[in-house]
Amino acid sequence: MEVLPGIHCIEAGGVNMYLCVAEDGLTLVDAGMPKKEKLVLDKIEQIGRPFTDLHQILITHADLDHAGSLAAIQRATGAKVYAGEETADLLVKGASPRHMPWYAQYVVDHFLKYQAVAVETIHIIHDGDRLPFLGGVQVMASPGHTLDHHSFYCPQPGILFVGDALNTRKGRINLTPKRITADQEAANRSAMVLLTLAPAVLACGHGRPLSGHTSDDLMAAFNTLRRT
Ligand SMILES: [Zn+2]
Repeated sequence: MEVLPGIHCIEAGGVNMYLCVAEDGLTLVDAGMPKKEKLVLDKIEQIGRPFTDLHQILITHADLDHAGSLAAIQRATGAKVYAGEETADLLVKGASPRHMPWYAQYVVDHFLKYQAVAVETIHIIHDGDRLPFLGGVQVMASPGHTLDHHSFYCPQPGILFVGDALNTRKGRINLTPKRITADQEAANRSAMVLLTLAPAVLACGHGRPLSGHTSDDLMAAFNTLRRT
């Protein structure tokens, strides 16, 4: 599904990856569940570009469903991985962040590891960084769901990649459920900051990318968050 010209949403096992196509190279945002690399590689082939045109992979956070196929995609393409510092520490171990009820966390920690990423492929990002592709990507720390979580805003054409800071399940803007949120207050603050950007497209990890919404819709979501 093409959410904007050149921006493809790829459903990768209940979670979205986004492949952004530009003349000077391709960018992937998040890397889906494990064993989903073929979806990305097939899409790159389909649009007639070599795998080596994928120059960068931006990672919102190190959960299994966002980093599961990262190592395989990175190896196939040689792309540079952009991630926050704590996220990078987890990516090189194939481990998930701690933000779940103990029983779920136990299962994730012991049985759901993903392939580790080579440390030398990772570039550490910080809040406020401006990355020199896709017209200048603004890196925004958006802690809450996990403590090291980043969102990525491309002012031109107005798309905001929010990972799990927000979702659009059931066709409306929601926060990630409380039971898998590391810091609820931080999550609320992050969500409000993200919504004030009023993006033309809200590209979430879960739920269909949202576009065609009005400022009233955003304001309604904003007010709901303010009350939580
Ligand atoms: Zn997550």
